[in-house]
Amino acid sequence: MLTVLRRIVQEVNSATSLDSALSIIVRRIRKAMKTDVCSVYLLDSERQCFVLMDTIGLNASAIGHVAMKPGEGLVGLVGSREEPLNLENAPAHPHFRYFEETGEERYSSFLGVPIIHQRKVLGVLVVQQRDNRRFDEGEEAFLITMAAQLAGVLVQALASGALARLGEFEGSAVLSGVAASPGLAIGEAHVVVPPADLNAVPDRRVTDIEAEVGRFNQAIRGVRADIQTASERLASRISAQEQALFDVYQQMLGEHSLGQEVEKRIREGWSASSALAKVVKRHVQYLERVDDDYLKERAADIRDLGRRVLGYLQQESAMEPVVYPDNTILVGDEISAAQLGEIPRDKLAALVATRGSSTSHVAILARAMGIPAVLGMNDLPLSRLAHTRLVVDGHRGKLMVRPDAEMESRYVTLINEERALTRMLEDEQFLPGETEDGHSVKLMVNTGLSLEAVGSLKAKVDGVGLYRTEVPFMMHQRFPSEQEQLRLYRDQLEGFAPHPVVMRTLDIGGDKDLPYFPIEEDNPFLGWRGIRVTLDHPEVLMVQLRAMLRAAEGLNNLRILLPMVSCVEEVLSVLKLMDRVTEELTHDGVKIERPLVGVMIEVPAVLYQLDALAQLVDFFSVGSNDLTQYLLAVDRNNARVSSLYDACHPSVLRALDHVARESKRLDTPVSVCGELAGDPAGALMLMGMGYTALSMNAPNLPRVRAAIRRVSLESATTLVQEALAQPTPALVHRQLNQRMSQWGLSHLMPPREE
Ligand code: PEP
Ligand code: MG
Repeated sequence: MLTVLRRIVQEVNSATSLDSALSIIVRRIRKAMKTDVCSVYLLDSERQCFVLMDTIGLNASAIGHVAMKPGEGLVGLVGSREEPLNLENAPAHPHFRYFEETGEERYSSFLGVPIIHQRKVLGVLVVQQRDNRRFDEGEEAFLITMAAQLAGVLVQALASGALARLGEFEGSAVLSGVAASPGLAIGEAHVVVPPADLNAVPDRRVTDIEAEVGRFNQAIRGVRADIQTASERLASRISAQEQALFDVYQQMLGEHSLGQEVEKRIREGWSASSALAKVVKRHVQYLERVDDDYLKERAADIRDLGRRVLGYLQQESAMEPVVYPDNTILVGDEISAAQLGEIPRDKLAALVATRGSSTSHVAILARAMGIPAVLGMNDLPLSRLAHTRLVVDGHRGKLMVRPDAEMESRYVTLINEERALTRMLEDEQFLPGETEDGHSVKLMVNTGLSLEAVGSLKAKVDGVGLYRTEVPFMMHQRFPSEQEQLRLYRDQLEGFAPHPVVMRTLDIGGDKDLPYFPIEEDNPFLGWRGIRVTLDHPEVLMVQLRAMLRAAEGLNNLRILLPMVSCVEEVLSVLKLMDRVTEELTHDGVKIERPLVGVMIEVPAVLYQLDALAQLVDFFSVGSNDLTQYLLAVDRNNARVSSLYDACHPSVLRALDHVARESKRLDTPVSVCGELAGDPAGALMLMGMGYTALSMNAPNLPRVRAAIRRVSLESATTLVQEALAQPTPALVHRQLNQRMSQWGLSHLMPPREE
């Protein structure tokens, strides 16, 4: 049974459209369960009814016509009760409704199960049988398992289906992802295609057909020559049978097979790459479905050949310079820093990617540069997006494809409001973060970018509260040398002097990987991360500490911050290494002033060790992002549980309040450098708790400064008391929103969910 189940899911997964996914579902399930009928109904959320989308067994003419409201008929009953219904004699059930067009009267037994994804009912899966019999427990369990597995796949197919229909009807679609960098943008999609990825080739039409056929033939000749060379090179080392495979390859590329089909598609008006991708994908899908191991192997061969030809086609187009339109929205599977760097900053409006999370490298860069980004959009059919009009809502993690006029004008208004607000706050940027009643809060910036990108901030901030050294490490092909690090750090320290610059030692692991030092673990956020990695590699940590200390010579504004500390021994070990480095450098004649050292408060264990830590270090910096993740046991990048991730959860607020009180008692300076500090209401709450330094991404500074300058410390203290009294995150948010609106500060908050 398990094999059948897996195979069906696999087939549905590789379907190219919603329609074919549904057709596979009903056909395969009917066959596996040996029933007379299998049908799938999907919830049409606009009409609020379950519509028959495909069936095998009922009259096909009923597809698209038979519809039932939740609670209506047996299907509606399954949907509204969200549980299976197994009946021996369905027509006798009081909810049974007869639809003449289905020919349903012939079937007696009925088993319906809901298809549910993340608590939402997507539809109902039904099998029916002529005989008067009850489906047994095993059959019921099979259909439930099937529906649960298909739910995830169907969500993707629904999203792609919505987009597929866009091509025909010019309608719009709204898709969701991870809100990775705040802000709004409207513009044109520029799809970046990873080299030789057949799934990411955009659908593109051409007019000069002959030239396109010529390009394709040229690419084929290139691959043929490569195969010939490979075959000759290996001739003496492989068997005659294996050697024959090369001939098969040559034949596949020949005029009467793959090559001919692709040419036919090009003559229909598709670009060589689009035509190739379509033909190869169709063949691969067909062969993978067949119950024959030999043919399955051929699928891999065809895919490989397709990639090779695509490689040639792309090599050629890579020579042509790309012209980026104004308001380019970069869309890709995974966007690298290098790709980001290729677009002139004034042309780039937003980023969208199928992979990535709010802490991935590109998200960090996007936030630092103030570019809205929505990442982790698993369902995004890249090939359909080239040159389409998009709206990106980085506050809520939404992507609107081909927005209709009303939606677009709503976003134009919101964008104009945001711009007007930025202009209005611009004048305040050089004023201190001081409340109405004279209380002052240090406003600092989080960075990791080169000084060039952040130098202009010096006059607007009280220093760098978090310099993420992993960002420059990610830009290299290997660990940067001591000299390379020295230059980078010196730039930052000099650029912001005399303000303090808090440099965090390398914080990799979790979801932050270096391309040249991959860490693969089952549970990376609970694994080898931050200080755990660098203590296991003292050679890396020592070089970094040496570079930092040497860079600070004569400036005295360096602070060193240790990430992911979970016990006192880790701090002791780093301090020992630091003593060694200091000794060595002094010996070399470098004038060292011992920098202040701090720990990040982000692993819950240290909440209860603040006393011991305060004896060893000079300051604390709260990483509210990880503290939230670990306190709530919610992976900060997992879309399935993202609704549970909330820095305003009452437990997180209590932890933050505890740290502020304890730090005061211990006379240890404390700041917050997680995202909460960059949220105007969050910043006011933190100020009310007693935090006197907040560090945030540069684009958040104006709003936070404005909020602080318009509220008294006394009001902020009341806000904290009120927030701490709320039992749920939703009530905390309601409380914060109410206060912000009373203070006339709602405009500083990101646009709310409609
Ligand atoms: C944090 O965890 O809050 C933090 C600032 O560090 P990072 O987001 O880099 O893990
Ligand atoms: Mg952290």
